[in-house]
Formats: sequence, C-alpha cells, structure tokens
Amino acid sequence: ATEGPDATTSEALATLHRVFGYEAFRGEQQAVIEHVVAGGDAVVLMPTGGGKSLCYQIPALVRPGTGVVVSPLIALMQDQVDALRALGVRAGFINSTQDFDERRMVEAEFLAGELDLLYLAPERLRVESTLGLLSRGKISVFAIDEAHCVSQWGHDFRPDYLTLSLLGERWPDVPRIALTATATDATHQEITQRLNLPAARHFVASFDRPNIQYRIVPKADPKKQLLAFLREEHAGDAGIVYCLSRNSVERTAEFLSANGIEAVPYHAGLDAGTRAAHQSRFLREEGLVVVATIAFGMGIDKPDVRFVAHLDLPKSIEGYYQETGRAGRDGLPSTAWMAYGLNDVIQQRKLIQSGEGDEAFRRRAASHLDAMLALCETARCRRGQLLAYFGQDATAAGCGNCDTCLTPPETWDGTVAAQKALSTVVRLQRERGQKFGAVQIVDILLGKRTAKVIQFDHDQLSVFGIGQDLSDGEWRGVIRQLLAQGLLAVEGEYGTLALTEASGAVLRREREVPLRKEPKRPTASRSGTSS
Ligand code: ADP
Ligand code: ZN
Repeated sequence: ATEGPDATTSEALATLHRVFGYEAFRGEQQAVIEHVVAGGDAVVLMPTGGGKSLCYQIPALVRPGTGVVVSPLIALMQDQVDALRALGVRAGFINSTQDFDERRMVEAEFLAGELDLLYLAPERLRVESTLGLLSRGKISVFAIDEAHCVSQWGHDFRPDYLTLSLLGERWPDVPRIALTATATDATHQEITQRLNLPAARHFVASFDRPNIQYRIVPKADPKKQLLAFLREEHAGDAGIVYCLSRNSVERTAEFLSANGIEAVPYHAGLDAGTRAAHQSRFLREEGLVVVATIAFGMGIDKPDVRFVAHLDLPKSIEGYYQETGRAGRDGLPSTAWMAYGLNDVIQQRKLIQSGEGDEAFRRRAASHLDAMLALCETARCRRGQLLAYFGQDATAAGCGNCDTCLTPPETWDGTVAAQKALSTVVRLQRERGQKFGAVQIVDILLGKRTAKVIQFDHDQLSVFGIGQDLSDGEWRGVIRQLLAQGLLAVEGEYGTLALTEASGAVLRREREVPLRKEPKRPTASRSGTSS
C-alpha cells in the first residue's frame, strides 16, 4: 500500500482526475485532503462555491471504509447521491423521506462495505439504532457539513447538531472534518468547541468573492427598480430574487412574468411537487429567474447564477453573504444587488421586538441587524466591510468592484438635520405625550397639512415646517440612517419612533452626525410609496 504525504498527494490527485475529471486542486483543498487522509481532524471555513465537498469526498474515497456525511439538507440528498453515482461513486443516504425497504437496502450496502459515502440527516444520530448500525460498519471519515448549524447564536441553529460531539467519543480513531461557509470568529470558535474538535487543524480560506459586484440601492419602487436592473444588466440570465414574505414572492414573480422575464416563485407555502419542479427547472434551464424566500438555495450548486437580488433586507450579514454567495460560482462576473429603504429598518426592528425569544436572543438579533445596517449605510468599500466582518483583511484602497468604490457616495454633515428630526420626536412626546411613525414625523418636518397633521393639531407644534430645506425622500433617508446608527429607535406594533440613549448627545450638540447623501432617485420614485 501507499504511505507518506507524497503518496497521499498522488493518490488524491489521481482520484481528482479519474473520478471528478478536474485538473488541479483549488485553494486549500489539497492541504485539507492530505491532513484528513492522514487521519487528522479539520475545521474548514470556505465560502460558498469554494469547493468544500471534495475536501471530504476524496478522503472518503482514498481511505478504507465509508465516509459518513452529516448534512441538514435532506431535500438535496437524493440529488447529491445521484450526481455522485453518475460519477461512479458508491453513495447512499438515510433520511426521513425514505421508506423502510429503501433504508434497509442502504444499510445492507453500508454493512457490506459497498458504500464510499453515506449521507445522514443529523436527527438520525439521536437514534441509538443508527449509532448501532454505524458501529457495525467501517467508517473512513466523518464530515459535518453546514457546521455553523451547531452555533446557538448563529442564524441557522439546529439542535440536533449539538449531539454530534458524541462522534468523537464513540469513534476516536475516525477523523472528523467540519465544514461551513460562515466565518465569523465567534462561529468558528463555537464549532470547534461544541463539536469537540480541540486538536483539529483549521483551514480558513479567503472569503472574498472578487467576481461578485456588491450593490445596495435606495428602495423607491422596488419591483420597477428590479425590472430595470434585470433588463439593463442581466437580460436572459439565471438568477435568484429574494423577498421576505410569500406574498411578495408571488407578486414579484407575477410582475416579472408579466413584463417578459421568465420567473417562477419558490416558498414554503407551495406544495412539495411545485417546489421541486421549480427548483429543477432552475437547475436545468438557462436564464430562469427564481423569486424566493430564504427557503430556497441552501446547497444548490448551479455555477452560472449571474445575479442575486434582495428586495428586502436580510436579517444578518451571514445570511446576506450566504445568499449572495450563490451568484457566480463559476468565477464569472456576477451581481449582488439589493434595494433597501426606511421601511426595511422599521420592519426588521419591529420583528425583533415583537418576536419570540428571551432578552438575550433579542439582543443578538439586534446586533446581527446592526451589522447588516452598517453595511447598507457605509460610505466605504462594501467588500472591505464584509471581509472585516468575517475578520479578514481587504485592500485598504477599496475593491473597485462595488457600488461605493465605483461611485463613491458623498457624505454631508447631517447634525442639524438629525437635531431637527430628534427634536420633533421629543416635542411630540414632551408636549403631547404622543409617539408617531416616520411618515408623520416627516410630514411635520416638511410642514405638510395632511389630514392626520390637522387631526392632531401638529401644525401648532414649534417644529412644524422646520425641515423644508430637505425633500421628503431626503428626510426618509435621514431617519433611516438615524435608525441604522442607533440614534432613533422603533417601538411597538405601529413602529413609532423614540429616542435612544445615544440621541441625547446629538440634541445637546455634543455629537456630530455624518450622513450619506441619498443618490438621485429615478424620477418614477418620487411618487413611490413603497420604501
Ligand atoms: P461548496 O460546497 O464549498 O459551496 P462545492 O463543493 O459545491 O462548493 O464546489 C463548487 C463547485 O466547484 C462545484 O461545481 C464543484 O464541482 C467545483 N469544484 C470544486 N473543486 C474543484 C476543482 N478542484 N476544480 C474544478 N472544479 C471544482
Ligand atoms: Zn469596493
């Protein structure tokens, strides 16, 4: 038999050529594979599309026994196994979608040593019978995919992942490799700790996706903006449009279809057959647009997704990075485009406050959102900000391939504007004991005698009309940025505005408030009400 690193390398390379038909390893793949084939544990942080699968598939093929892959992506197991079988790899899976006979067959193959790879849903490992089965076969490596699911504070926690630490206890001689595309320091440490991998070697790839152009535009009339973006830059391209609600998924898909862009909806409210049909059309056809909730896309390997568009604000940078990462896996130029507006901030803040979970959970959610908002409002390079969030360095000069690098936003001294907006909130509360939402605050600032202004006598306030130097859109931008910077808060089910602890310094003129200038909006947006 072959031994030593050189022999391992040539055997791994031979497998890469023979089975997968690829020329060479990418990035850290070779180092990871050599380490795991030699029996070492590994924690692998690699962006989506970075090539994590080969990091465990090749060790599974090179080492004697079956590689056991733990994955939460039950819906994709059949596809993954089919794809491997097409390459001549002996693969199988065990999950809840199978009937008894199917499962028995896979179990028999495993016990007979006839499987190179066995995919398992994490909940299977809670069942003693599965552990018993595994004990009776020979295992080459354990791969724990989507390892960030073990993080209780992360955006994708799966309680079943907590039981996976037992793998190391029951099979101390089998190497384990944990893989994820989520890369914050906190998650990284949690994976190492909770999966009990103290001796693992850590492989952290660069999270930069240089071929993805990041752009975040102010939301005016989002469907129209999306249509213009698609027509101007991505006609005939395949892509994903993310919306928050099922309803807006449906409406957006209809809108695009009515405007000559082939688009299908995807969300958890559709029946399984429709979902599967839309997903497989997306994978097989060229130029189909899927409008989806975040239920869509995990584990989907379509190399030529040319754009990912967000019509609503993601809840965290991890989510944003993962979703945008589905674009451009083939390395060709792709766009991550998002429309973002005042209502996004209000809606998300409201969701956190009225949502489930204890105080600590809410605080976590709020800090996730704050980081996402900071990315939206930054005047610096978006890529630099993203990478910094993941603890990685970027070129100080900027990437040259994001909106803020390509057309640097102007900033202005918004201190006086901030004082006016905050004073309006203060007056309403002190003089009237009232709280109102952003629309009323802006109407008061602009001195508009709307029905609601008259109804509440708000034209009698001393602040009425003090903000006529700015437009309606500009005021919405100011309030959005004050919310993002934590200088204003959203309260209650109506999303009323309130001061924060930090607001006082602005009102006392102890703190300056630099703001991003709102880019010129398309003319259609002036009448738009949807931001
Ligand atoms: P991840 O799981 O990290 O998102 P995948 O393992 O699905 O990434 O790989 C992404 C794509 O890159 C797949 O289409 C895969 O076949 C391809 N790929 C991975 N490694 C290589 C390589 N060394 N050479 C060529 N293509 C590769
Ligand atoms: Zn940049």
